[in-house]
Amino acid sequence: MSSSDKFQADALGASDTIELPCRDVWLIPAFGNVGVVNCGDEGLVIFDIAQPAFEKKIFNDIRKFTDKPVKYLIFSHGHFDHAFGFRVFLKEIEEKGWKKPQIIAHENCIKRFEKYKMMDGHQNFINSQQFAALTQKGVRRVVFPETSLDPTIIIRDNENYSFKLGSFTFELYPEWGETDDAIWMYLPEKKVIFSGDLIISHYPNVGNPYKVQRYPKHWALAMERMLQKKAEYLIPGHGALIEGPENIKECLTITAEAMHFVHDEVVKRLNQGKWFEELYHEMLEIYPKKFEKSKWLRPVYGCYRFAIHAVYRLYHGWYNSGNPTDLFPSKSADIANELLKIAGSNSEDRYFEHAKKLFEDGKLQLALHILDVIIKGTDTQNKEMLLRSYSLKRKILKKQANLETSFIVKNILNNGAIQIKNKIKEIKKS
Ligand SMILES: [Zn+2]
Repeated sequence: MSSSDKFQADALGASDTIELPCRDVWLIPAFGNVGVVNCGDEGLVIFDIAQPAFEKKIFNDIRKFTDKPVKYLIFSHGHFDHAFGFRVFLKEIEEKGWKKPQIIAHENCIKRFEKYKMMDGHQNFINSQQFAALTQKGVRRVVFPETSLDPTIIIRDNENYSFKLGSFTFELYPEWGETDDAIWMYLPEKKVIFSGDLIISHYPNVGNPYKVQRYPKHWALAMERMLQKKAEYLIPGHGALIEGPENIKECLTITAEAMHFVHDEVVKRLNQGKWFEELYHEMLEIYPKKFEKSKWLRPVYGCYRFAIHAVYRLYHGWYNSGNPTDLFPSKSADIANELLKIAGSNSEDRYFEHAKKLFEDGKLQLALHILDVIIKGTDTQNKEMLLRSYSLKRKILKKQANLETSFIVKNILNNGAIQIKNKIKEIKKS
């Protein structure tokens, strides 16, 4: 397995289906994880059902240890990787003439499904970039809004809900965190928390650059509520089972601390009248070593840099720089073109040589900015220069992607490199 494949496998949470040592509770790893509680003759409670690409695997894994019907299906939230892999189960219910299961979701999950229907084209556009690694592996579409399952039991904010099946109690808690439609579950008889994506075994996915607002402060408070349970097992939304009260305590405590930290430090700087650029670079300087070193906060999927954006966006409008020049900016291509004009004849060559020097000195990000002046500003007929600039940009993006640990950042950079490859082909053909 190459290191990049290993990285993908890790991010996708690949491991074996297991029954927890407390018995009757199963973890079926997929993108994302599925939790199953076997209530004997009463049937099954399923917490999250992953995405369509995994539904057959999930179904087969469950049917290896029980033939009982699904009585409850609970969505930790309405994201594609938690609430869409149910079709095989519905088919089975129909074939066997079983009663339909109760579907439990947060009230905002219904709004999410409506939004997915309205924004289908957009969702596909951004997901093909965020999950470029999946689309390259043949997964053409990740969200199927037309197939969403309407909840039959709706959990409202601040209203906990519980039910019993067989000898087990199911406590459900609505939260905000990665989404505003989150639910986590606690099974007191077995001391198991089913966290959904409030825990993904790595740094929370709190500031995804493609997605709508997320909620770091609420996230921290959710961790603190989970801590009160003193659970012995935690099934995360992604990644391996977390076992043992000490491990769970450490994971929840440091994740809560990290969310409080990024929230409170950004808020402090907003109150000091700082604009995004200043605040962002200051925040990079003060990131505590203990977070950097924590195995629970590795930036495998999202990362701290994204989280800074999340807090800023929560409290701030779109005017980020405080510089009136940026209020109604000119087109970036026009600005670049003027910069090239100022630099006089052969300006592209000089820009290119400068970008190359920056690249050789390891200043990759600065090199990208300089190359963009040529790419955006030069005449489209200047093919040779465009090809050189695009080629160097592609090389830099690939290098940056190799240096990255975050799945989302890697995908954005690699996707950028692929688009440039296509652009180069296009220029050569023209
Ligand atoms: Zn997920």
